[in-house]
Amino acid sequence: MRKCLILTPRLKFAKQTPITPLKGGISTPTLRKGLIGVAIGIVIISAVFFPLLTPRQSFALQNLDSENPRAVPEDTGFPVPEDTGFLWLINRENPLPPDFKPDDLTEFEGVRLREPARDAFTEMLAAMKAEGIDGLHLQSAYRTYSYQRAIFNEKFKSLLAKGNNPGAAAAIAAQAVQLPGASEHQLGLALDVSINGSLSQSFAETNAGRWLEENCHKFGFIIRYPRAKTDITNIIYEPWHLRYVGFPHAQIMKEASLTLEEYHEFLMGIPMYVCWCDDDYYLVKYSATPLEITENTSVSKTGLDENSGNIIAVKKPKMIVHDFGL
Ligand SMILES: [Zn+2]
Repeated sequence: MRKCLILTPRLKFAKQTPITPLKGGISTPTLRKGLIGVAIGIVIISAVFFPLLTPRQSFALQNLDSENPRAVPEDTGFPVPEDTGFLWLINRENPLPPDFKPDDLTEFEGVRLREPARDAFTEMLAAMKAEGIDGLHLQSAYRTYSYQRAIFNEKFKSLLAKGNNPGAAAAIAAQAVQLPGASEHQLGLALDVSINGSLSQSFAETNAGRWLEENCHKFGFIIRYPRAKTDITNIIYEPWHLRYVGFPHAQIMKEASLTLEEYHEFLMGIPMYVCWCDDDYYLVKYSATPLEITENTSVSKTGLDENSGNIIAVKKPKMIVHDFGL
């Protein structure tokens, strides 16, 4: 079980202050103060730590050849890591094309999903079981575009049958079921879980639902559509819908009560953040352009669009910090 310490003034600020629903993301005047704080703090952290790192361990900040962003940098020999896709923001404004399909789909009890999400889910189920919570069932994960369209049409027709006019039926349906292309289930990283075969908000009050709310981030998952953020996600509260975003991102989003939309905005507003966890620490940074990066690095773009930025996480041994008495 991971235990983490996140070091940025912004996140300390978020933890000490009761989180209220953020209208319009993280651009309120109060949060601006937090971002200014984090900028100052991170400049200090950067100044202290970056000179301590060897050239191979540090970010190499020069941009790659824009003509060939996946080129192997000559001076390091390390290729730019593949985009994991773990942090892609998929919604109505950022849909997937009908023919998008992940290339590492695997199965868990007959349900298809991406391999990293399957591995994390398996580990999480074992942890739940060790704490005496059984019976969590993976109901749905990867969906094709055409299947999502069928689900949406079914919802739409049921609302028409209840007497709604077509416009109202479409609007109500879109709050409960994503439009085809707008569903992150098509990514293979979204998991609908259940203990009795139904997906309802009462799941949040069950032992399994409470456990997931408190612990799923330790395994790289977030509750993607929280109760207090429906004005940001435009999706009803879905305590059963988990999204795999990987580590340490899930930890940060949980600590600071950020949706994926807000996490992107948060990262774009700071130079980087540092997260200590077990024997490792992570440096996480957003870059609009690809960077030359080294080993122990994962990269996810923010979306499929060619204008998407890059979120870079570098894992480093904590020993470097111990060496200097921190
Ligand atoms: Zn779902």
